[in-house]
Amino acid sequence: MEIKESLLRVENLKKYFPVKGGILGRKEIKQIKAIDGVSFDVQQGETFGIVGESGCGKSTTGRTILRLLEPTEGKIFFQGKNIAELNKSEMRKLRKDIQIIFQDPFASLNPRMKVREIIEEPLINFEVTDRSEREKRVLEVADQVGLTKAQLSRFPHAFSGGQRQRIGIARALISKPKLIIADEPVSALDVSIQSQVLNLMRDLQKEFGLTYIFISHDLSVVKHFCDRIGVMYLGKMVEIAGKNRLYEKPLHPYAEALLSALPSSHPLQKKQRIILSGDVPSPSNPPNGCTFHPRCFKCMDMCKTVNPTLQPVSDQHSVSCHLYHLGQEQSAAGELI
Ligand code: SF4
Repeated sequence: MEIKESLLRVENLKKYFPVKGGILGRKEIKQIKAIDGVSFDVQQGETFGIVGESGCGKSTTGRTILRLLEPTEGKIFFQGKNIAELNKSEMRKLRKDIQIIFQDPFASLNPRMKVREIIEEPLINFEVTDRSEREKRVLEVADQVGLTKAQLSRFPHAFSGGQRQRIGIARALISKPKLIIADEPVSALDVSIQSQVLNLMRDLQKEFGLTYIFISHDLSVVKHFCDRIGVMYLGKMVEIAGKNRLYEKPLHPYAEALLSALPSSHPLQKKQRIILSGDVPSPSNPPNGCTFHPRCFKCMDMCKTVNPTLQPVSDQHSVSCHLYHLGQEQSAAGELI
């Protein structure tokens, strides 16, 4: 993969959801910190994976980048411009360049619209007024994702899960985006169909120079599909590394535990599975210090009070854990909570 330049840079992104309570139910009594200070960048032409357990904030991160959810704080630089500052109409125009593929190909397509209309709809939203131009583009993109002209006149219910996801991909592609956020795009599909959809996405990436953010809880799929990966836990990015590096030698204890569940790549090599104790804490009341400390099998005293930050340990590898930044943490006294 040829890495060119940073297409997207996310800095200290936060998304907090208010929880209302009180006598009238109108007072904000706490906040759910769905994403809490996430930073990463995505290079032009690469596939950046975001993994983590359900509820870790990975889908919220994708939707906040696209501003389907408004960020509470932070910057989102797309091609050097902070899109977190754009107004609604500026953002609507920019969505031409950043599109999303949703997880559920059954729920994400309007059952009352024909496939042709579903694929064409974004062009109408982006004010492409010439009907013949829209028709030409719909046929072109349908062909690219393997849909026939006859299939365009049918309704979504007539299609299998894999075919519906092709329709979702066509709709995302129609505006010729530069970045596609794929939110669990194959997790609702059978394993045999998953590889067809992933191969299609990879072919389209090669052909059109697409950049993907690929959100998934499935570590095998991410390993197969992504170039670099960010691991999220409780709204924070805890490790970012190239695929090979992360899967061969994860540094963060959470990433270590997650990856220990995967079968060994060598048939004679036995792997010890790390079972984490306890449940994921509530994002409305995260633990002090390192939010992973109540479940961490390497926890030290300082982890209970000092919050680690994501810092580089080598080129293209960053981790948020005191084990790797002890000298710096002790001298700077860290970020006390
Ligand atoms: Fe575990 Fe401490 Fe590292 Fe957190 S900072 S992951 S508790 S060792």
